[in-house]
Amino acid sequence: MIDFDLSDKVLVVTGGASGIGRAVVDLAHRQGMAIAILDVDGEAADRAAAELSRSGAPTLARAVDVRDRDAVVSVVAEVESLLGPVHGAVTCAGISRPAPPEDMTDDQWSSVMDVNVTGTFNVVRAVGARMLERGSGSIVTVGSTNSLGGHAHRANYTASKHAILGLVRSIAIDWGRRGVRVNAIAPGVVDTPLLRNTNSEQMLRDTFFVRIPMARPSLPDEQARVAMFLLSEAASYVTGAVLPVDGGLTSGYFNHV
Ligand code: NAD
Repeated sequence: MIDFDLSDKVLVVTGGASGIGRAVVDLAHRQGMAIAILDVDGEAADRAAAELSRSGAPTLARAVDVRDRDAVVSVVAEVESLLGPVHGAVTCAGISRPAPPEDMTDDQWSSVMDVNVTGTFNVVRAVGARMLERGSGSIVTVGSTNSLGGHAHRANYTASKHAILGLVRSIAIDWGRRGVRVNAIAPGVVDTPLLRNTNSEQMLRDTFFVRIPMARPSLPDEQARVAMFLLSEAASYVTGAVLPVDGGLTSGYFNHV
């Protein structure tokens, strides 16, 4: 039997109030996990937790900005005291602020780097420290196909997503002998508010979807399923990996048939 069982294990999901993070929360709940939803949008996180808490394992929500290291450290301690030892984390909190590089403001640059890179590192470091004490755990970060290639008007976002791979690959080496696995999924085009808010319908149809061999965006749940695999014992020998979940987008340069 392949061991996908995650029931009763504790999971931290950042950005869990929307999009991919919300899909991770929903699927993990169906797998019987106890979940802490951490999101800068505390009201949306509360709504998600309230919907799920009606059944199954406990779900709690906290308003946390992942850029705030102290807040992240203290919320992880609180999660452990309320739910138990954290087995897994999926770091979905992320933003995109597209602009041509020559017009990009300092705020567009630094806000994306702060949330996507420093925020991810804050969470990996905080949950990882706890996992190392017990010698077990699995962390899934969310990169992007922008971790693997460039993208017009997204120098900030692309740099941040390349940085996620550097972070994952280095920390996997640091923690590999100590029982903590660290990986990244690299979503392609996923139908979420972030995608819809930063691209026009015409841009999505004429530029994005035609380049995807599977000719459609991913459902958020299709990302969540791969995250669950990486959290589980089915992926017991996988660390330091980046797993494209992109409908074939990065499989070639000439994707039209
Ligand atoms: P989304 O906007 O639907 O959800 C992102 C969530 O993160 C929101 O709930 C938001 O409140 C939260 N968040 C933002 N800043 C935060 C902060 N500082 N602290 C805590 N929470 C914060 O976006 P999504 O599309 O689900 O994206 C999730 C991740 O997936 C991001 O890292 C994004 O870069 C990545 N990704 C998305 C796509 C896509 O096509 N949608 C593709 C590749 C990668």
